[in-house]
Amino acid sequence: MSSGRAIVVGSGPNGLAGAVTLARAGLAVTVIERADHIGGGAATRELTLPGFHHDVGSAVHPMAAHSPFFRAFGLDRRIELLTPELSYGHALDETHAALAWRDLERTAQGLGADASTWRRLLWPLAADADRVADVIGGSFLPPAHPIVALRLGLRALEQGSALWSTDFLTDAAPALLTGVIAHTNKRLPAIGAAAPGLVLAAFAHARGWPVPRGGSGAITQALADDLLAHGGRIETGVEVDDIAELADADAVLLDVTPRALARLAGERLPSPYLAALRRFRYGDGIAKVDFALSDPVPWAAPELRDAVTVHIGGTRAEIAHAEGEVASGRLPRHPYLLISQPSAIDATRAPEGKHVLWAYTHVPAGTADDRTEAITAEIERFAPGFRDTVLASAGTSARELEQLDPNFIGGDIAAGATSAWQLVARPLPRAAPWRTPLPGVYLCGGSTAPGPGVHGQSGWQAARLALRELHMAIQDLAPDQHR
Ligand SMILES: Cc1cc2nc3c(=O)[nH]c(=O)nc-3n(C[C@H](O)[C@H](O)[C@H](O)COP(=O)(O)OP(=O)(O)OC[C@H]3O[C@@H](n4cnc5c(N)ncnc54)[C@H](O)[C@@H]3O)c2cc1C
Repeated sequence: MSSGRAIVVGSGPNGLAGAVTLARAGLAVTVIERADHIGGGAATRELTLPGFHHDVGSAVHPMAAHSPFFRAFGLDRRIELLTPELSYGHALDETHAALAWRDLERTAQGLGADASTWRRLLWPLAADADRVADVIGGSFLPPAHPIVALRLGLRALEQGSALWSTDFLTDAAPALLTGVIAHTNKRLPAIGAAAPGLVLAAFAHARGWPVPRGGSGAITQALADDLLAHGGRIETGVEVDDIAELADADAVLLDVTPRALARLAGERLPSPYLAALRRFRYGDGIAKVDFALSDPVPWAAPELRDAVTVHIGGTRAEIAHAEGEVASGRLPRHPYLLISQPSAIDATRAPEGKHVLWAYTHVPAGTADDRTEAITAEIERFAPGFRDTVLASAGTSARELEQLDPNFIGGDIAAGATSAWQLVARPLPRAAPWRTPLPGVYLCGGSTAPGPGVHGQSGWQAARLALRELHMAIQDLAPDQHR
């Protein structure tokens, strides 16, 4: 007999996206979260000093801005997404920067002799960005827009192979693109890094790379608010250890990794499926530092002072070298860094005149080293005087990241390696990879299609599948008119 109840384990963006979808369809939804706060990789906390609001995980949201789920949810009508004209900057050397503007043509013109290569690679994807967001699948279903998928696939083959630099004539454009491709933690070049990198680079010239006013926690708070408004409940500080605890629900969504599902369900799962879960691979980790700053970063390249997102790593060859070191199990001398300085556009993030800065770098899986000094030294190279602006810092090692959120195994923020295979078979090669062999139980985290990022898509797809299998109608997600 139907209980009319659903349970979601994990309050990351995917868990909450699934919870909202189930609650709006009429199920009584309870979200269970082990941490003492909601949000998983999309939470904002005072990690250093009072009044400095840091993003615990994700900071910049091209995926949310373009996600079919968040477009249906009307995220931009619920929270303020601050979208800078300069999507991201790249510190090329101690004094020069390359710049990716939201305006693709302005970007191309700034890249001199490589303008036409930038246009060739990114214009067809940026012009069709919402369709590109639709085809990022991760399932074995034929893509919704085959021509768009083909365009992306051909470009990923080029930028993921040894031929990746054939068409470039200068250092700036390939470095600018590699700064995005290297978001995926891999030895470069690699198709599994090129495909998501090209998507993010195209999004930079479409809806842009926004940050939510107040921090990434605003995104998961908007989801939680909608869930509560539709009768849902959230319990924090409760860890689910065994799937048997959830037996009386009609639908169970698990915002966890395949490794965790193997532990939660164990021998209840058919052995071939259990073996496949155990074969799922995890990638290398990240180490992060949050800084409270007395002043803006004194970047030597003045254009970077207004940039919300900055990549450090030098030329394409230098970034590839640093990423190769990590893939070989070593900490690079000059690491590639991703930096977000959201207070450049959002004064609510820090006390008046002060700033927050979030920076992370790749490290071998499970590394316990605090990389605060390495990250500080690298920023100082491109921004002499940076050290003097630091009021406080909080470092998080790859190992500590997993303790904060068990989905980030060994510090792998993608919740699973992004090999070309695991981009499409996530976690298994199936048309509906969210379904498990246990009736009514679905996987919905970043280890499932379409993969990492704050897009809510995995949770939405898993919840829609659950509703179809319960013969329940899927409801509209748009903000309620009266609210
Ligand atoms: C430092 C960092 C920077 C990032 N930067 C970006 C970025 O700028 N943009 C972007 O789009 N993405 C970014 N990401 C990735 C993004 O945060 C993740 O892809 C996203 O959060 C995945 O969402 P999720 O819901 O699948 O999982 P998570 O956000 O990991 O949430 C899973 C939740 O489930 C809970 N949970 C797990 N097991 C249990 C259990 N047994 N019982 C109860 N609760 C449980 C966890 O505590 C957690 O709250 C970043 C991640 C990190 C860590």
